[in-house]
Amino acid sequence: MQILEQLVQLNSPQQQAVKSDRQHLLVLAGAGSGKTRVLTHRIAWLVETGLASPNGILAVTFTNKAAREMRQRVEELLPFNPRGMWIGTFHGLAHRLLKAHWKALKLPEGFQVLDSDDQLRLVKRVMTDIGINDETLQPKTAQWYINEQKDEGRRAAHVMESSDPFDTTLRKIYLAYEQACERSGVVDFGELLLRAHELWLNHPPILEHYQQRFRYVLVDEFQDINTIQYAWLRVLCGQQSHLTVVGDDDQSIYGWRGAKVENIQQFSKDYPDTEIIRLEQNYRSTATILKAANAVIDNNSGRLGKELWTTGEEGDPIDVYAAFNEIDEARYLAEQIEQLLEQGENALDMAILYRSNAQSRVLEEALIQARIPYRIYGGLRFYERQEVKNVLAYMRLIANRFDDAAMERIINVPTRAIGGKTVETLRAIAREQGCALWQAAGLAVHNKLLPGRASNAVQAFIELIDELNQETAEMELHELTQHVIDASGLKEHHQKEKGEKARARLENMQELVSATRNFNTEQEDVVSPLDAFLAEVSLDAGERQADDSKDSVSLMTLHSAKGLEFPYVFIAGMEESLFPHKMSMDEPTGLEEERRLCYVGITRAMRKLTLSYAESRRMFGNETFNRPSRFIREIPAPLLKEIRLKSTLGSGFSSGGSGFKEEVASGYGIQLGQRVMHPFFGEGIVLAASGNGANASVTVEFESEGTKELMLQYAKLSAL
Ligand code: ATP
Ligand code: MG
Repeated sequence: MQILEQLVQLNSPQQQAVKSDRQHLLVLAGAGSGKTRVLTHRIAWLVETGLASPNGILAVTFTNKAAREMRQRVEELLPFNPRGMWIGTFHGLAHRLLKAHWKALKLPEGFQVLDSDDQLRLVKRVMTDIGINDETLQPKTAQWYINEQKDEGRRAAHVMESSDPFDTTLRKIYLAYEQACERSGVVDFGELLLRAHELWLNHPPILEHYQQRFRYVLVDEFQDINTIQYAWLRVLCGQQSHLTVVGDDDQSIYGWRGAKVENIQQFSKDYPDTEIIRLEQNYRSTATILKAANAVIDNNSGRLGKELWTTGEEGDPIDVYAAFNEIDEARYLAEQIEQLLEQGENALDMAILYRSNAQSRVLEEALIQARIPYRIYGGLRFYERQEVKNVLAYMRLIANRFDDAAMERIINVPTRAIGGKTVETLRAIAREQGCALWQAAGLAVHNKLLPGRASNAVQAFIELIDELNQETAEMELHELTQHVIDASGLKEHHQKEKGEKARARLENMQELVSATRNFNTEQEDVVSPLDAFLAEVSLDAGERQADDSKDSVSLMTLHSAKGLEFPYVFIAGMEESLFPHKMSMDEPTGLEEERRLCYVGITRAMRKLTLSYAESRRMFGNETFNRPSRFIREIPAPLLKEIRLKSTLGSGFSSGGSGFKEEVASGYGIQLGQRVMHPFFGEGIVLAASGNGANASVTVEFESEGTKELMLQYAKLSAL
């Protein structure tokens, strides 16, 4: 048997976990110890030994990327294609259940998933509708509140009434928001889980069917499971089900989103017969990287306690680069990557990780300048770009006419003389009649509630969508997408615009066609390809990007790096206030979660880790000066190698020291790292200096003109 040959490659506790015949199994182990590998091998073992049929297996993981990888690994381990197996994220699986049982759940058949951007718009609209000023209460706060309640499994009707007026308002918004979602037939992320849970609770025959079917349930990244997800799992796993969970309490990083690491302890309480297996050998990282990770996480209290070891080599020290500012930092990282590429390394083996999405722009610019291909996860995702969202909105409206968010988005895009006033009238009708915007539009035209011109325009819009629907009924998904782009007028609209931006927009729309062409759905049984695609897009969380196929460097937040590994990892922005983040720094639980995030970051690296920090950083328009992150200090000094920019400083400049505050040239009042203004080149940053007196020159990186070396005497630089 193929799987038996594979098992030889596992160590003994790993094999024990793969072959365990206990009903409940918990693998508790640190990063890179092979938890995910155990999970995939266990699935293959179960199928190949005949203990389970592929149909009987449900595997859950945290990201779509991880789910795709898991399926691929399992397929590689088995001599046949394990169709029928359910492998996905909690949200993806819940979506599949809702699609299969929309009737029982009283959802419209074509219901759509609301991503967080759309959700925020809807919250805003609901607040306007019920007369709550968004200055008294930020829509984001309300959105946060709603999601928190849903993660805890509470509907608006179940939230306790409170005497606090703020809470009362939030509850009111939640209630109105729930009704608005219901009216438009849309569900947000939290709702997917909530409904999937209610499906179990309110429909015993359906529950029983799935309990019979899924005899083996396996969960990766169990430390980040939240209340509603755990509740859903517990109900699904009946008397007969086998439940395997793997996780690492030190990698719990979603506390802020309702994840409960206590669920790990709770698990062995809920299932007292649980077999607990610990894995302690790390196969991923060099000894140096592992020692650094162990040292950092050792500062946390209340850990379940495990120490990782490796038989691997010591490896290179960890480079720590002290940059003047964020631009210098980005340039350095790009340079390092360039060198690796020149040495023949593959860009796919490199990742730059950061704490906050806002850091990516400067990094991207440096990579573009150095002509290094990169792929960015998160941030402004491909599917969040305006032009792409517009096409998607047409597709959504074709799939579900009641999707108000989609309709509002494109009713006048491209412009077709349906102004704000007309839309307001339609909204008022929808409110009065308690119906969707689409129906309101029909009513308005039919009952002549709009001025003639507007009425014609609205009617033309209704006809357009209906036509698109008919014309595309028999088309393949990518043909449909292309047709929507051509026939909606979007293509023409962007063709008329001028410049680089417009070209990029057209390219992105075409890229969407490629994405639909490459999209393969394994759920054809219950979900139409269009619905499956739209759902994947909403659930994508920034994982799939435009040029997925090219060999490129990965850029992503530390959060989205969970579970992944790269030979070369760069963590940028290792500064107090940024990482640990200032929002979490002041209270112990927040700080410990940041530290776990740092542990996750460090343990992504296989061969070489580089950390960098900037002595000054401009972000969100402000310049800040922060000390290096405490997490750097928590790594034993002998493991680190400090690197500073080698400027060719002439006499009068100390090359050691902080390298930052020295006056480059007395009399000019210019310092390294300083922002300066040049009459022709505009704003820039002083990166290096050489010579002195009449020969003093500086290298300045200008925002629009790139790097230039200038003689100070003539350059007319003024300090900013
Ligand atoms: P994380 O906590 O980061 O999710 P993990 O515990 O899931 O990590 P894996 O990703 O499964 O760890 O494994 C880490 C690396 O070690 C992978 O490259 C995997 O192929 C390798 N590995 C795991 N077990 C073994 C083994 N017994 N022999 C050789 N390599 C192994
Ligand atoms: Mg893993």
